[in-house]
Amino acid sequence: VIGGDAGGLTAATQARRQRDAADLEIVALEKSRWASYSACGIPYVVGGVVDSLNDLVVRTPQQFRDANAIDVRIRHEAVGVDLDRRVVEVRDHDAHRTYELGFDVLHFGTGSAPVRPDLPGIDSDEVHGVQTLDDAAHLLEHAQGADVGEVVVVGAGYIGLEMAEAFVERNARVTIVEAGPQVMPTLDADIATLVTDALRDKGITVELGRAVTGFEAGVVHTSDGPLRSDLTILGIGVSPNSALAIDAGIRTGVRDAIAVDRRQHTSADGVWAAGDCCESFHIVAERPVHIALGTVANKQGRVAGLNIGGGYATFPGVLGTAVTKICDTEVARTGLSETEAHRYGFVPVAATIESSTRAGYFPGARKMKVKLVAERRSGRVLGGQIVGLEGAAKRIDVIAVAVTARLTVEEMTALDLSYAPPFGPVWDPILVAARALSGAT
Ligand SMILES: Cc1cc2nc3c(=O)[nH]c(=O)nc-3n(C[C@H](O)[C@H](O)[C@H](O)COP(=O)(O)OP(=O)(O)OC[C@H]3O[C@@H](n4cnc5c(N)ncnc54)[C@H](O)[C@@H]3O)c2cc1C
Repeated sequence: VIGGDAGGLTAATQARRQRDAADLEIVALEKSRWASYSACGIPYVVGGVVDSLNDLVVRTPQQFRDANAIDVRIRHEAVGVDLDRRVVEVRDHDAHRTYELGFDVLHFGTGSAPVRPDLPGIDSDEVHGVQTLDDAAHLLEHAQGADVGEVVVVGAGYIGLEMAEAFVERNARVTIVEAGPQVMPTLDADIATLVTDALRDKGITVELGRAVTGFEAGVVHTSDGPLRSDLTILGIGVSPNSALAIDAGIRTGVRDAIAVDRRQHTSADGVWAAGDCCESFHIVAERPVHIALGTVANKQGRVAGLNIGGGYATFPGVLGTAVTKICDTEVARTGLSETEAHRYGFVPVAATIESSTRAGYFPGARKMKVKLVAERRSGRVLGGQIVGLEGAAKRIDVIAVAVTARLTVEEMTALDLSYAPPFGPVWDPILVAARALSGAT
């Protein structure tokens, strides 16, 4: 197994459940100092909500050895794969030696890495990606410094926004610089505007349509002049770590992610892949996509592990269901946005409604907006987006189920959803959105 996090170790533990150690020897290589960790928790450690980086470690290598008979080797990097000879070339960073490891079955869980645009000064020490716990340790050190100063976040993907909030919590002055016209490109522009408003309300400067052109000590250069920066964070998205697979002759697809079939098998015999390093099939768009989410990595890893262990399992695909909290605002999306629906050849209709997280009269009721997207002729629900204050976001899961089950908006209006005043109005906001749309399909 190459890669010691969700995509790699979920496969390893699942394979172990199928086959005992006498039958299947499992070695997992992890190049960093950390294995089995939650990168999703990094913004909350940096922001001081979670106490320590160690809290993000799910299981130590020793626990993997003791409980699962899986030999997790940290600081061991796979640097080459020879499919003909069935060996991986491994660099042991602590012992400063390179050795060969033979395999019958190989599994890639190499994840992804923050996109680093080819700009002057990009390799400077002040420009940080956010991916591993090593990255997090650097950022935490800065966040805990006496004067955090000016922080510039380049790009307005959700990781960049979560990091912006983390540094505001540490009293930094934060500027987000985004070349595109909106934050969070997976949202429609009208919904993304609500997120921009929430960021600005929190005191974060959001510069849209402003491109970064280079980095220097203490400065980020942009199309609109320089910005002072004591710390610069990249939030432009991630690209799959597939170079090793490509060098080995394994087929890749969208954005150079490793191509896999429905069982997570790659183009090479006996070679599997799961997580951020590989493609997924989009259930609505009906095409391969690269969506880097922990939810997907865990599910794909489980499927790969079942198959590696001799079983039969398939991964049906993804909707890109995602949720985040930016300042006090919860933001969630699933399926296709209206923009994506157009892009993939649908003729969509959409409705956006405003409702509330509790019955209107109930103390603590907060606003929520729901946007629902459907196909015009069939009325099939294609996706949804929700933005609101506390209590808003998890409703996205209802829409995700509706999209998966290919419900129409008409069918959605009749869903028997729960109600009591502390949890929502009698017509749940999702039902209100479905009703608003049902006349238009
Ligand atoms: C700040 C942040 C917040 C996030 N929040 C969310 C969230 O709220 N919800 C969500 O669903 N997802 C979230 N994600 C995404 C989620 O963390 C990833 O999708 C998930 O970690 C992917 O798991 P993976 O195992 O495929 O890849 P990774 O977690 O990247 O693990 C891959 C591992 O492989 C190792 N590796 C790579 N190449 C080699 C090699 N050649 N040899 C040995 N080891 C190698 C790497 O060091 C790494 O540890 C977040 C990510 C970040 C960075």
